Amino acid sequence: MTTDATRVLVLNSGSSSLKYQLLDMNGGVRLAVGLVERIGEQASRLVHTPLAAGGEKREREERMADHDAALKAVADELSEDGLGLDSPELAAIGHRVVHGGLRFTEPTVIDEAVLKEIERLVPVAPLHNPANLTGIRTAQRLRPDLPQVAVFDTAFHSTMPEYAARYAIDVETADAHRVRRYGFHGTSHAYVSRETAKLLGKDPSEVNVIVLHLGNGASASAVAGGRCVDTSMGLTPLEGLVMGTRSGDIDPAVIFHLERNAGLSSDEIDELLNKKSGLIGLCGDNDMREIRRRIDEGDKRAALAFDIYIHRLRKYIGAYTAVLGRVDAVAFTAGVGENSAPVREAAVLGLEEMGLAVDARLNAERSGEARIISPDYARVAVAVVPTDEELEIANQTYALVSA
Ligand code: AMP
Repeated sequence: MTTDATRVLVLNSGSSSLKYQLLDMNGGVRLAVGLVERIGEQASRLVHTPLAAGGEKREREERMADHDAALKAVADELSEDGLGLDSPELAAIGHRVVHGGLRFTEPTVIDEAVLKEIERLVPVAPLHNPANLTGIRTAQRLRPDLPQVAVFDTAFHSTMPEYAARYAIDVETADAHRVRRYGFHGTSHAYVSRETAKLLGKDPSEVNVIVLHLGNGASASAVAGGRCVDTSMGLTPLEGLVMGTRSGDIDPAVIFHLERNAGLSSDEIDELLNKKSGLIGLCGDNDMREIRRRIDEGDKRAALAFDIYIHRLRKYIGAYTAVLGRVDAVAFTAGVGENSAPVREAAVLGLEEMGLAVDARLNAERSGEARIISPDYARVAVAVVPTDEELEIANQTYALVSA
C-alpha cells in the first residue's frame, strides 16, 4: 500500500444490485456514492453522485449483464470524476458480508480460504452470502493487487454469551447444522452504540445501551460496556421485531400448521414469513410514512399494524432492560427510528417507571444529527442516532489495512 493511499471503496452487493461508496479516510470524507439496480435485466440502472466534485447526480440506463459489467460501469463513472479505481490512492475495498458464522468475529482480509468459508455459510444465508461472494470476486478481478476486506453483519454479536446465543433445542442437531443465534445489522449496532456513548460524553466501556435499528429490516440489541450481550435476530434475519415484510417472532409450530393444513411448501412459507408478513402482511403497506397517513385518516387495519409493531418493540425494550440490569440509553436508528416521531413516542409511552420518556418538542424536531430527545428528569437517555454502515465498514477496512 502506498503511504498516500487513503481511499476505501465500500461495496454492498445484493443478488441484482450493487451499492457503493468511495470514502477518503483522511477525515472520513465521502467522495462518491451510488447504486446499480436490476443487474442482469434488460434495463439496468446506475445512479451515481460525485459528492467530492459537488457534482450533480448522474443516471445511466442500459443492460449490465452481470456484476462485472456493473462494477465496470461504476469504475467508468468514478474515472470521469478523476476518482478512478486504478488510482494508487485507493487503499482497499471493503465488502459487506452478511453471514460470518462463528469463525469471523472481526473484519478479515479476504483470501481463498476466507472465500471458501463464506461459501460454506451459504446454507445459513442463502439469500445474502452468494451475492456478497459475487461482489468480492468481481472486485478481485478489477483490482487483484488490492487488499479486499470482509466486514460481517454478524461479527458484533459474536460476544453474546452462550446462553443468549443457543436455542433450547437438541445440542447435537443444532451443532451439526450450525443452528444458533448469530444476529445481524451488527455493523449498525456497533456504530450506533459507540456514537451513543459519544453523545453521552462517555467511553463505550462505561455505558449500557439498547439499540433499536428500525428500518425495513429491524433488530434490537443489548450492548453492555461496548459488547453485544443479546440481539433480536437469530439464525437468520427473520427472528425478533415486526419488520416491513418479515414476521419477526412467531411460534415455530405455525410453520407445521401451515404445511399440514394449508398445503404450503416450506419455500412458500419461507416467502410468506420473509416477504409477505410484518407490516405489509398486516396492512398492505410497509412504509411507516404511509401507515401513519392512513392512521390519520382513520384506517383501522393500519392502526392495528402499528399497534402490533409497537407492542413487540416495547416487549424487547423491557426484555433488554432486564438483560442489562442498568440502562443508560435507548438509541433509535435507521429509516423508521431516525424519522418517525410517533414510533419513538409510542415505544416509551408510560414507561416513566423504567426511567424512559421523550420530550414532545425534542422528539418532533427534525435533524440529521445524533441527539437526545428525553427530558432532563428521565433516568435513561433516549437518543436518535443516525446510523452509517458504510462509514463503519470503511473505518474497519482501513484500520485493518493501514495497521
Ligand atoms: P431503511 O431500511 O433503514 O432504509 O428504512 C426504510 C424504512 O424507513 C421505510 O420503509 C420507511 O418505513 C421508513 N422511513 C423512511 N423515511 C421515513 C420518514 N420520514 N418517516 C417515517 N418512516 C420513514
